Amino acid sequence: MSSDVTSESSTLATFDIRGIPRKCVCGSRITTFTADTVKNPGRPFYRCLTQRKNHLFKWVEDAVLEEVEEALPKIARLEAEVAKGKSDVENLKGVITELMEEVVTTKTKLKRCEVKMKIVCVVISLISIGVVN
Ligand SMILES: [Zn+2]
Repeated sequence: MSSDVTSESSTLATFDIRGIPRKCVCGSRITTFTADTVKNPGRPFYRCLTQRKNHLFKWVEDAVLEEVEEALPKIARLEAEVAKGKSDVENLKGVITELMEEVVTTKTKLKRCEVKMKIVCVVISLISIGVVN
């Protein structure tokens, strides 16, 4: 949409709304227009659908800058969380490796016990046969 705003700077009415505005203070929806003036040719702005004086008017670039400013700390927090998550995964990999080594050790011990039990059974059988005979 194109709009002829004669003096955009004097009509600036952001009502301290940070970032991209969703609604005007009057409750009307916001839409994007493009300035068609000598001072601001092709410069996009948000404006109340009513296009009345003292209703929301905000340059898109200002709104986007504020959105980015609001998003940067959130991104930093998310990066920290991802880094902690990666660290947790590495720690869990270490635990899994230790547990796998313990499983191998336990299996080896179990096989040795099975062999010992077989030997004991054979000895008992031989003693039994010897006793019977
Ligand atoms: Zn309005």
